[in-house]
Amino acid sequence: MPAPSDVPIAVEEVVPGVYRIAIPIPAPLRDVNAYALRGPGGWTLVDAGFHTPEAEAAWHQAFRQLGIAPRDVEAIVVTHFHPDHLGAAGWLQTLTGAPVYMHEREIDVARRVWQPAALDGYAAFADRHGVPDELGPTLTARRRKVLDWVAPPPRPTPIRPGEALPLGGRRWEVVWAPGHTDGLVVLWQPEEGWLLADDMVLPGISPNISAGPQAAPDPLGRYLESLRRVARLPARLVLPGHRAPFTDLAARCAELEEHHRRRLEAIEAIVDRGGEVTAWQVATELFGRVMDTPANVEFALGETVAHLDYMVRRGRLQATWRERTRTPGTDAIPPAVAAADPGQAPGLSRSAPQRAVIVYRRA
Ligand SMILES: [Zn+2]
Ligand SMILES: [Zn+2]
Repeated sequence: MPAPSDVPIAVEEVVPGVYRIAIPIPAPLRDVNAYALRGPGGWTLVDAGFHTPEAEAAWHQAFRQLGIAPRDVEAIVVTHFHPDHLGAAGWLQTLTGAPVYMHEREIDVARRVWQPAALDGYAAFADRHGVPDELGPTLTARRRKVLDWVAPPPRPTPIRPGEALPLGGRRWEVVWAPGHTDGLVVLWQPEEGWLLADDMVLPGISPNISAGPQAAPDPLGRYLESLRRVARLPARLVLPGHRAPFTDLAARCAELEEHHRRRLEAIEAIVDRGGEVTAWQVATELFGRVMDTPANVEFALGETVAHLDYMVRRGRLQATWRERTRTPGTDAIPPAVAAADPGQAPGLSRSAPQRAVIVYRRA
């Protein structure tokens, strides 16, 4: 296997002065698009990748290719708190001395999520949504691993929606677009019609919309609202957080809205067939095939709960507590996940005689 520094990375000038840098990530999407914006006084970097040796090597290589000295970096923008975007920001800040800009909600949620104390909160969330006992430690171990990839944390500077940031010699507007995460921002350059969309709108894949212990209420409702608002920007080019840039923003937003409408219908049909189901049961029916890694199980569960809660809030479904007397869906654990090493999971109390699980049924 080649050393990380020998692995070629893609650096591409997508429009004059804006470079897309593919940073490798330890996740199914394989890489995240970071961007480097060249300005008269220096460079701005948008998003960072997980903090891994491979990401460090990719950044060093991109700096060499673009002729960037660390002191030439005048700003770093982190669009949202997810580890593939935030993870290496603290390391980049130490290297460059540049400020790291984030929405203030995202600063807050990053502090709460990326600490060991948050692991138990997630374990409890998985438990009350019916995740089989055998799987809990595997999910916790994966989350614990991610903590290593978001350290050290940056010292962030808050930015506000509507604010115009002078980045790379142009004025970029900060547009708050909650849903994928609550403090997610996209950056809009009105004169050129360029949108740095990170994970708000992606080509070919639907951004994960997850409910979870640290998510704001109604993430899907907020996302659909953001989609309709962002769709109205007269964009000429969309620069996404994963995969290739694309042009038709409004059409892609409409497709994503339609995708969620169909998923809501599919979930409703599963609830009808089951009469009373847990989120885990719905997730395995919807996503069984692709729940092949702990990360994908987490995405599938979060996505399912977001859709179920969306319908509960709108009176289409009802959620009730039930005593958890058995582990629903045990048979449906994907083999690859069942075989994964659970690692050092903290001892979630499993001995409580009364454990409750949330079930959903038609309202
Ligand atoms: Zn994301
Ligand atoms: Zn991402």
